[in-house]
Amino acid sequence: MTSLSSTINYRLPQIEKVLQLHELQFYINSLSRPIVTRLIQKELDSIRQSDEFKQQGCDAINVIERIVSRCSQTQYKKLQRVINATGTVIHTNLGRSPINAEIWDSVRGINIGYNNLELQISSGKRGGRKGIMGELLQALTGAEDAVIVNNNASSVYLILAELAKGKEVIVSRGEQIQIGGGFRIPDILALTGAKMVEVGSTNITTADDYINAITPETALILMVHQSNFTIQGFTEKPDIADVAKRLPAHIILAVDQGSGLSNETLSQSEICIAQYIKWGADLVCFSGDKILGGPQSGIICGRHALIALLEKNPMMRTFRPSRIIYSLLEALLIKKLNKANSGKGIAQRTIDDQQNIHDKAKRLVALFPQYLTLKSLPLVIGGGTLPNTQYVSTGVSIKCEGHCAEAISSALRQAPNPIITTIKNAEVLCHLAAVNDDDYLILQQKLQLYFQQL
Ligand SMILES: *Cc1c(COP(=O)(O)O)cnc(C)c1O
Repeated sequence: MTSLSSTINYRLPQIEKVLQLHELQFYINSLSRPIVTRLIQKELDSIRQSDEFKQQGCDAINVIERIVSRCSQTQYKKLQRVINATGTVIHTNLGRSPINAEIWDSVRGINIGYNNLELQISSGKRGGRKGIMGELLQALTGAEDAVIVNNNASSVYLILAELAKGKEVIVSRGEQIQIGGGFRIPDILALTGAKMVEVGSTNITTADDYINAITPETALILMVHQSNFTIQGFTEKPDIADVAKRLPAHIILAVDQGSGLSNETLSQSEICIAQYIKWGADLVCFSGDKILGGPQSGIICGRHALIALLEKNPMMRTFRPSRIIYSLLEALLIKKLNKANSGKGIAQRTIDDQQNIHDKAKRLVALFPQYLTLKSLPLVIGGGTLPNTQYVSTGVSIKCEGHCAEAISSALRQAPNPIITTIKNAEVLCHLAAVNDDDYLILQQKLQLYFQQL
């Protein structure tokens, strides 16, 4: 043994030498030199400790291939553009609502230069962050005023912390819901120091239930949109206008509307922000991205006196968004009020684009008839919006002799330009509903490359 081991090559390459290799330049650019250096270090350590290395040395191991593979695994964790072929338009795992390119481009100057975020240009004095946001949201929703925070979870928190701390908040048992990862209405209530008073049942809550639960300790009624599920069958919801009318003046009616549906035409069954205001809600909050189509943010609109209180809450300092959010939201709202195409959120644009989607799917099948079949598929708006509204769209199913669905789907997820598909009944579904024109060209090329190498 000893005589043999003396001929084994235990000399692993030097990190500096590895960093100069052609194969690693892409990763140095993409991930940074310090990160690639650490990845090399880690891989060399892991090789050094392996039995394979101890017994046979470097020659049995493809050291560079293993380093490159470690880099590519890290590359996948980097935030990158992906193609959404899932058929879910507002996809929580895929960044929710993409921002319209025209809106994004229009705020470049504001963001790469200085701007009047907190300056009154007319007087030269310090101003508030709000700009014309209150006016824009007033025009869109009919509410007196509005305040912007970082996300809609913050909206709910701020409303409760400022207006219901130590007091009672009435919530329907049908609306004590969880929205996405860990945002539960009862937990948020507890965190803000408000006391939850439950009324009604899971399926039925009436205006009387709310009114009868009022005590001298009641500060607020909180209604929460059931965004990600529906209850069907024997159900009843309160007449909100009736609740508002019968409420004593000092009790606030707050609605977490969630999606930000305003002047879109994509759902008949969904209640828009302006409707809640018309019925007499004092505050309505919603996400700035979902259906609205802006950057992720939280928007609270409603009575001026209440908005002013929220704005003065010390927590506002931690919830206030940056100029990036303000500029994008402002640009979007102006386009939305003018009913320009760029003012539509991704959900509305996708629904409007369905004829085009069907044509694209047919073209794709014509290109690769051996592998693709045209499919009518359900389109889901998603992101905790419009759970009652079903649309049909088009996509293709992919079948390759001898390749299982997981293998195909995983190959399409590889870099560059990962394509995210779904698998149903052992079939890979490539849903075109949310695949725009740019994405379509990439998808077509990627499929071509994949089928070529089969
Ligand atoms: C999405 C949603 C939220 C959370 O909004 P974020 O912007 O993700 O914080 C809260 N309430 C409702 C009803 C929602 O639909």
